[in-house]
Amino acid sequence: MSQALSTDILIVGGGIAGLWLNARLRRLGYATLLVENDRLGGGQSVKSQGIIHGGTKYALSGALTGSSEAIADMPRRWREALAGSGELDLSGVRLLSEAHYLWSPGTLAGNLTSFFASKAMRGRVDQVKGAELPPALQHPKFKGKVYRLAELVLDVPSLIARLAELGGDGLLAGERIAPLREDGELVGLRVDGREIRARRIVLSAGQGNADLLNTLGIEQPKQQLRPLHMVLVKAPTLKPLYAHCLGGGPKPRVTVTSHPTADGQWVWYLGGDLAEADGVARDEAAQIKAAQKELGELLPWVDLSAAQWRTLRVDRAEPAQSGLVRPDNAFLSEQGPLLVGWPTKLALAPDFADRVIATLEREAVQPGNCPALPELPRPTVARPLWEELFA
Ligand code: FAD
Repeated sequence: MSQALSTDILIVGGGIAGLWLNARLRRLGYATLLVENDRLGGGQSVKSQGIIHGGTKYALSGALTGSSEAIADMPRRWREALAGSGELDLSGVRLLSEAHYLWSPGTLAGNLTSFFASKAMRGRVDQVKGAELPPALQHPKFKGKVYRLAELVLDVPSLIARLAELGGDGLLAGERIAPLREDGELVGLRVDGREIRARRIVLSAGQGNADLLNTLGIEQPKQQLRPLHMVLVKAPTLKPLYAHCLGGGPKPRVTVTSHPTADGQWVWYLGGDLAEADGVARDEAAQIKAAQKELGELLPWVDLSAAQWRTLRVDRAEPAQSGLVRPDNAFLSEQGPLLVGWPTKLALAPDFADRVIATLEREAVQPGNCPALPELPRPTVARPLWEELFA
């Protein structure tokens, strides 16, 4: 029988939400233990596009929504962390791009100009031209307008690796989770048979939260899954591009991010409307055709004759909303010693941690005197998606 453990805060799930929270709590002096049943970051986090949204995309419908306001401070917080002067020291994490761009391929430009000149958007976007354009758009045939957003794009695998480092000795590979109760009260979890007592338990297991709640016999909160069918293209001719290409509606027609591979090429990772409902309904071959058509129309000068194509089906896990709409903030629900949540976006991991910390402060859960942890089986860190898919 493995040695019983005790900690202040037991976290289940090592995606961005759990890892960020774990690192923040440790910095505040709490004893923490994070349990991961697969690879750290290997759920949605390493499949994300790494954009640290500031809300501009969500303001495209014209008015700033709750979403835009809640998220507006995230780029600053991440920027400070990346500089080593913020709430976490992420100074070694690779920044892929200082900016994300909004790119309007044609006739929409008129509408956009007045939208971007509006009071709500002033200071958040700047038009760029000529040599300031993203490398992939610097071509004589390029038409349209491009606006620079003050939103970062991160290399998520290096972010996960850094947060795993900040997790110190408190990361545990564990598969079977069961409640640990005393007098009917939840006092911890049993992980692969090992008793782990904790003052608070945080479920941040992404899509895994639903099963964990079920195991604990808890019905709320409900989870929603939003399926996506993403496309990846790798070619020696690709240059970096980080942009939402706008279509007629409030959602980007395609969102492109670019990821360097170990063999010195770039992979474009394509999401946006392409990956949503119609894209989800297409099979892999049809989805690749749809992506080829989009890129052929939007960037006809890019030679894709030697390109390799892949698709990836992945669900976004979120708290249930009516009509599957996108939630506005990180979400946290409290049920006695159990806290359950979803950050809803990679960018909102700091907001998720804030919510947990606010709960601990409100309930006067201070760092305690927990015994040092023994050496524990440690989960591995997920490999970059593009290395896995193009191996
Ligand atoms: P996850 O990353 O899914 O992590 C959950 C972890 O819990 C996993 O490691 C899993 O193995 C583990 N786990 C599950 N069950 C158990 C269990 N029983 N016991 C132990 N561990 C368990 N957001 C942005 O801000 N910017 C973007 O550009 C962006 N792009 C995206 C692109 C795509 C294609 C997708 C799918 C999402 C994107 N997102 C983006 C959203 C973002 O990726 C997610 O909101 C975020 O990664 C969720 O983090 P998480 O830690 O809650 O979940």
